[in-house]
Amino acid sequence: MTIDEAALGVFASAFRGQLIRPGDASYDEARSVWNGMIDRRPALIARCADAADVAGAVRFARDHDVVASVRGGGHSAAGKAVCDAGIVIDLSTMRGVQVDPDAETARAEGGARWGDYDQATQSFGLASPGGVVSTTGIAGLTLGGGFGWLTRRFGLACDNLRSVDLVLADGELVTASEDENTDLFWGVRGGGGNFGIATSFEYRVHPVGPLILGALLAWPLERGPEILRVYREFVADLPEELGIEAMFVTAPPLPFIPEDMHFKPAIATGMCWSGPVDDGRKVMAPLLDLDPPGQMVEAMPYTVMQSLQDGLAPPGRRSYWKAGYLKGLGDDIIESVVAHAANVPSPFSLAEIVRWGGATARVGKDETAFGNREAPFLFNAVSMWEGAEGDDANVAWARDFYTAVGSELTEGVYVNFLSDEGDARVREAYGPEKYARLASLKAKYDPDNFFRSNQNIDPGG
Ligand SMILES: Cc1cc2nc3c(=O)[nH]c(=O)nc-3n(C[C@H](O)[C@H](O)[C@H](O)COP(=O)(O)OP(=O)(O)OC[C@H]3O[C@@H](n4cnc5c(N)ncnc54)[C@H](O)[C@@H]3O)c2cc1C
Repeated sequence: MTIDEAALGVFASAFRGQLIRPGDASYDEARSVWNGMIDRRPALIARCADAADVAGAVRFARDHDVVASVRGGGHSAAGKAVCDAGIVIDLSTMRGVQVDPDAETARAEGGARWGDYDQATQSFGLASPGGVVSTTGIAGLTLGGGFGWLTRRFGLACDNLRSVDLVLADGELVTASEDENTDLFWGVRGGGGNFGIATSFEYRVHPVGPLILGALLAWPLERGPEILRVYREFVADLPEELGIEAMFVTAPPLPFIPEDMHFKPAIATGMCWSGPVDDGRKVMAPLLDLDPPGQMVEAMPYTVMQSLQDGLAPPGRRSYWKAGYLKGLGDDIIESVVAHAANVPSPFSLAEIVRWGGATARVGKDETAFGNREAPFLFNAVSMWEGAEGDDANVAWARDFYTAVGSELTEGVYVNFLSDEGDARVREAYGPEKYARLASLKAKYDPDNFFRSNQNIDPGG
């Protein structure tokens, strides 16, 4: 794309943020995202300072027929935050968070990360459900649904939204809430970045912590079938204050993991108990009774829990994800899943089986655009590796993991866990009825599909 220099000059004169172009010292850093496989070269990165910058960038792109993408935290596995030869409307420096403890709300700018949000809200002993890695953007995560350690208790991130300020495809700034632009408010709670650029999110906050009981337990993978069977029974009837997932990982050399497990395949569980700290061990007892050789069970600040897994998924590695929902953990898949986990080609990869349900399942099916609230488990195989020569083997590992859980897969997929898997998988995330409703909303708010560098809803239905 060649940008009209005169037009760019006019745009730049009103732009308060930073404009970055090929050749600039910060260009390569500014175009890189979490997934190291993504190597796109935008013609312009418009690092916005405020909502007016965002609106100006949208109008500039529209007026000059330039392809645009939108960047929040840059964590989309499919790399949707950056585009080739177009303009990246980058909110990554818009990270302010303001808390109103009396109103029990927090307002965060569209480029904030969960680390920013948690730090600000926890200063008042408050929190809302958000991602489990502190560098993930609140924007992409919330607009696609968003789960974390507090989700079984308080619902998805999108369920805790009170309002969103959005720059629409025509550059207009609107608010969507239960009282204003209600159709849009329905769509942004699960429909991703299809309808506009969120410049500000207002969330409900809840008293949490400051201490929670956090736990990471690890066993050698050979004990996988036994652990998965106990996990299956344990999570069937859980208090909602417990967030929990089972994970297949390669045991890292952490002090609480015995040396003979280091760098070997393991099965692990992560837990966050946000009820009274003293009750937590009792609740976790069925898993603690399995004598995990690696165990860390500690009262810790909620903010520490929220960054405990940061080291598992640092930015820059190559990555491919294959996700779905499971209706159960039947005996017929347990052996094959453990066997598949043992053959992992990269020590950085992992697969997770998250206990779903709780408050998420209590929100009505049609209340938000988010689909698949009923499934008991969320599943994701996350390949992470270094070096392009490993691409085929590592992509295949994630895909084959999906095949290994095949007989337990149920309808749908979490839209935020999609790789670049095409239109049919986006439709699968919503199901035909919701997709049709989202498509008519898209046709109303973005008929030309200006916002298309995302898990795209086709305005044509
Ligand atoms: C390490 C890691 C940990 C994760 N953990 C969790 C987790 O615990 N829970 C969970 O639910 N998900 C998790 N995810 C998935 C996450 O929800 C998605 O990757 C999400 O898209 C990240 O949002 P982002 O703003 O960081 O991403 P980006 O790549 O910046 O954006 C993702 C999509 O949202 C659009 N977008 C970004 N900002 C805006 C905005 N302000 N307005 C409108 N559209 C926008 C982008 O255009 C793009 O299409 C994780 C991902 C990673 C890589």
